[in-house]
Amino acid sequence: VVPLGRRLVTGVILALTNEAAAPASAGAAPVRIRDVVDLPDQAPVIPADLLDLARWAGRYYVSPPGEMISAVLPPGIGRRSEVIVRRAVGIPGALSAADRRALDSIPMGAAAQLRRLKIPAAALKRLEAAGHVTLETTLPGARVKERFERVLQPVAGDLDPALALCARAPRQQAVLRLVVAAGEGGLSQDELRDRLGTIGPAVQALIGKGLLRATRRPLHREPHVLEAGSHPPVARPTAEQAAALAEVGEALDAASGRGFLLMGVTGSGKTEVYLRAIEQCLSSGRSALYLVPEITLTPLLARDLRARLGARLAILHSSLSPGERFDEWRRARGGEVRVVLGARSAVLAPLPRLGLIVVDEEQDASYKQQEDPRYNARDLALVRGRESGAVVILGSATPSVESFHAASAGRLGLLRLPARIHDRPMARVRVVDMRAEFQRTGKEEVISEPLRDAVNDRLSRGEQAIVLLNRRGYAPFVLCRSCGASERCIRCSVALTYHRAIERMTCHYCGYQRGRPRLCSTCGSDKIALTGTGTERLEETLRALFPQARLARLDRDTARGRRAPAEILSAFERGDFNLLAGTQMVAKGHDFPGVTIVGVIGADNMLGFPDFRAAERTFQLLTQVAGRSGRGSEPGEVIVQAFHCEHYAIETAARQDFAAFYEKESRFRRIMKYPPFVALANLVVQAGTPESGVKRVRVVAQVLGEVAGDGMQVIGPSVAPIARLKGRYRYQVLVKSPSKRRLSDALNEAAAVLAGRGLASSKDLVIDIDPVTLI
Ligand code: ADP
Ligand code: ZN
Ligand code: ZN
Repeated sequence: VVPLGRRLVTGVILALTNEAAAPASAGAAPVRIRDVVDLPDQAPVIPADLLDLARWAGRYYVSPPGEMISAVLPPGIGRRSEVIVRRAVGIPGALSAADRRALDSIPMGAAAQLRRLKIPAAALKRLEAAGHVTLETTLPGARVKERFERVLQPVAGDLDPALALCARAPRQQAVLRLVVAAGEGGLSQDELRDRLGTIGPAVQALIGKGLLRATRRPLHREPHVLEAGSHPPVARPTAEQAAALAEVGEALDAASGRGFLLMGVTGSGKTEVYLRAIEQCLSSGRSALYLVPEITLTPLLARDLRARLGARLAILHSSLSPGERFDEWRRARGGEVRVVLGARSAVLAPLPRLGLIVVDEEQDASYKQQEDPRYNARDLALVRGRESGAVVILGSATPSVESFHAASAGRLGLLRLPARIHDRPMARVRVVDMRAEFQRTGKEEVISEPLRDAVNDRLSRGEQAIVLLNRRGYAPFVLCRSCGASERCIRCSVALTYHRAIERMTCHYCGYQRGRPRLCSTCGSDKIALTGTGTERLEETLRALFPQARLARLDRDTARGRRAPAEILSAFERGDFNLLAGTQMVAKGHDFPGVTIVGVIGADNMLGFPDFRAAERTFQLLTQVAGRSGRGSEPGEVIVQAFHCEHYAIETAARQDFAAFYEKESRFRRIMKYPPFVALANLVVQAGTPESGVKRVRVVAQVLGEVAGDGMQVIGPSVAPIARLKGRYRYQVLVKSPSKRRLSDALNEAAAVLAGRGLASSKDLVIDIDPVTLI
């Protein structure tokens, strides 16, 4: 803890020296060395290998070193100083009226926290100089407080009479509906606010009318893991699993830091390979890291892992409080836990003597952090493994083009599990051409006839169904039939999505909300239509088509609560539901043996995105969700609805033929000069006005042109695909380079030049290395 001006800040010691730094410029005052105030830690907090990794990543991702180092530290470890003000005894002499007022705001005879008093800095300085006040800087201890939440419960279970009592208040009705639907346990006010926006007045009114009751309950702080239940049987590895494990085992023995790509079709038993590799790693006295894209979506994995590994396992959950996170971090650092299961940020978990890193679903975009520092946990895992000798297993049924390319070039060992366990057949996929379907029926149906029949058939046999539509809300467009304009966000250049549960249009990029208009905001016509289909409308359609089905919906709107996804998924596993509809959340690695039919609505939705990864994303999502079908004893089927049925991403996904997809996709990437055939960076300039944005992006492009070496290519400037976001105008420049090292060297140079020209803030200039999206 060191002084910086009047403040105290927490620093990290990177190196020791006996010499003072030279003054910033010739003629400047010599640097004055001040004493360290406190050394809160007796031993290094960050293990040396992690510190090296953070410094390397800071440079690679062109991010200030402090950003990456604080990503390694557990939150809450950096303590903030507090300035305490005390009034001197005695009667002050002559003071200006303003200074007198400032002094009077300080209580007599007690210490006050400076930040709670609104005293102008100049006045404070004068008062201190004249001896009227004394200031003292202190460091409050790190403290973790118990937190409470306000919970709303229904007074009566009957909805209709209650709704009648607030017939003219749609906000109150919306609140009431959700609270009653949540049952006796009620719903926290924070959660309600997340889902409905501002609700304070509506809630107060409902309490006033005696329709709701408010209570306080302590916030749930235990990481939520499903009950361990019975210990899952440890299967004997199949021949393919055994072969993969033999190679991994050799690398583990040699602590070679080698990376593998474990490519196994859906249901081929990759998880068992990870678990056995982890057990071997533990038995050699080392620790292991297990990364998954999103823990909340893999509650069953957490449960099974806990059953198998017991107390040696720590789970780094995104909904842990800072206190819990801090404790888990300490337990890992101290070697108390030996395996950490977590999402992206867990790649930086401080496990000593790391022997193995597993990255499941390595192609998943959520491994890439979309804010500074913009690291990709999959790539950091490979670097960390190489540096520390830990073996790295990247697992996937649909590897990223990058990873498969690396495996083909021999940079990753390729391990294959080509068939499902027990030789279960892959699901049979059928593509339904929605153009033909429209011509045949003359109607634009959400669910085609073949899908309807198949779901009916499967449900009536007591089997389960999943329907995927990767778009949340009720209608993605609120469209005017007179002028053709759709209602748009006031801050972003995107259309607003209509959500029925809250009866509002919302922006999926900035959260802006507004009620549904009666008249078109462009031309004033009243011919307004809710167009297109999101998961909310899908749910409504499915309920009408399959009234007997027990339906659950899973998307970001139903999954706001801390437990909701885990609860929905385990209820589906138990068979409480037999039909699950939702966004890509339903496609993740779930293993539900009862599912025999999967339907995909709008399979080609993503292909229209101006993004070179659109085809890859589509292929991966379709293959993933198809892999949910037929994992039990009954063979499965999949029905894919699309308009562009002949697109290679859809055609190859229907055959679940990765090789054919890769062949096409890599040819496209090679010709168009996209990763993995070049190293790519995306620079986005954001500004308050188009003029300043254009001016700045020209500077960025010019500086990039100057630092770009041979073979590097600067593309742009151009308007970004989302031209306006949160009120800021966006422009973009792409840089392509034959090598990653040269790209990062050039960009570090450019960043330094741009910082000199006032473009340093990450709000004004985003530098994204190895971007996963160009939007
Ligand atoms: P993947 O992750 O490749 O999609 P999973 O790891 O979920 O596949 O395995 C699919 C199913 O096969 C799981 O129910 C798992 O318990 C089972 N399984 C895995 N390995 C074996 C084995 N060697 N013998 C029997 N069943 C196995
Ligand atoms: Zn209009
Ligand atoms: Zn917006």
